Amino acid sequence: MWFDGEFIEDAQARVSPLSHSLHYGGAVYEGIRFYEFPHNFWRSVFRLQDHINRLLVSAQVMDMESPYGAEELCEAVLESVKKSDLQAGYIRPAIFRGEGIGLMSPGIPVHTMIAVLPWAQGPDSISLATSKMIRLHPRSTSIGAKVAGHYVNSYLAAAEAKKSGANDALLLDYEDNVAETSIANVFFVKGETIFTPKTENIFPGITRDTILYLCHGEERDVSLQEAKEADAMFVTGTACEVLPVARLDDKVFDTENPLVRKIRAFFGHVVDSSCPVNKPWLSTLEPTSWASKLINPAKGANR
Ligand code: PMP
Repeated sequence: MWFDGEFIEDAQARVSPLSHSLHYGGAVYEGIRFYEFPHNFWRSVFRLQDHINRLLVSAQVMDMESPYGAEELCEAVLESVKKSDLQAGYIRPAIFRGEGIGLMSPGIPVHTMIAVLPWAQGPDSISLATSKMIRLHPRSTSIGAKVAGHYVNSYLAAAEAKKSGANDALLLDYEDNVAETSIANVFFVKGETIFTPKTENIFPGITRDTILYLCHGEERDVSLQEAKEADAMFVTGTACEVLPVARLDDKVFDTENPLVRKIRAFFGHVVDSSCPVNKPWLSTLEPTSWASKLINPAKGANR
C-alpha cells in the first residue's frame, strides 16, 4: 500500500492502537473503482478527481490537513493501481489521525493511505427492509462528508435488516422521507419518470450524480408510500454500481424493468469504454504487465 508518501508492504504499516481516529471515528475515506476496457486491456479509474476532491473536503470537515494535495493523491492512486497489477478492482484511500487520546488534543499526526484491492462481482439484485433507525440528521453532522463514524448508523441499520432476512436497510430521513440504504443511494422508476431523494438529508454519491447526468432524473422528496407505488427501484454506489431492488419490505419490484436495464447497461458502458460522454471521468492507464506481454510478444510471453 501507499502510506504517507511511500510504497510499503501492508504488514509494515504501523498504526497505534491509540489512534485518535480509531477511538473517535474521525477517519475519512473513499471507495473508488477501476475497470479494464473489454477489448484492449487498458484500465481506467472512474471519476478519480471527484473522489479525491471529496476525500479532501471530508478531511477539511474533520480539521485534518493532509500534506498531499489533490494532484499528488491522484498520481499516488494511479501509481498504486499500476503496482497492483490487477486488471480491475477497488481503491481505498483514507486520511486519519494517528496516536493521541483526548477528543480535542492538539498536534496529533495525520496519516494518508491508499490500498488497492481485488473486487468480486456482487449479486444481480437485492432486497431491502425499511429500518427502524433514521439516517443521520443533517444538523448532527456534515452529511456530505465521508467520515468513518457515520458508518455506525449504516452498520446498525444493515445488521438489523440482515437479521430480518433482507440484504440491506432502507433508511428514512428525520422527516420520514426515503433517504438511502446503508451504503448506497436509491432511485425509483414510475412509467418513464426517474426520481431520487434530494441531497439535503443523504450522502450525495458520485454514482448518483453520474446517473442524474446521464438520465435527467428528478431530485425531490420521496415518501415511503410513493416509493412502494413505483414500478421499479434501484440503488447506486461505487461498490454496487447500478443494482435493481427485487423487494422492499412486502413490495415486489420488477427487476427486469426496461428503463432500469437500459440505465444499468449504459452505466456499465460508461465506466469501461470510450464514448464522448465519459472522457472527463476516466483516468486511463496502460495495460497490466501480463496484458502488455500478450500485446507485445517480444517482451516475453511467447519467447
Ligand atoms: N450513500 C452512502 C451512505 C454511502 O456510503 C455511499 C458509498 N460511498 C453512497 C451513498 C454512494 O456513493 P458513491 O456513489 O459516491 O459511491
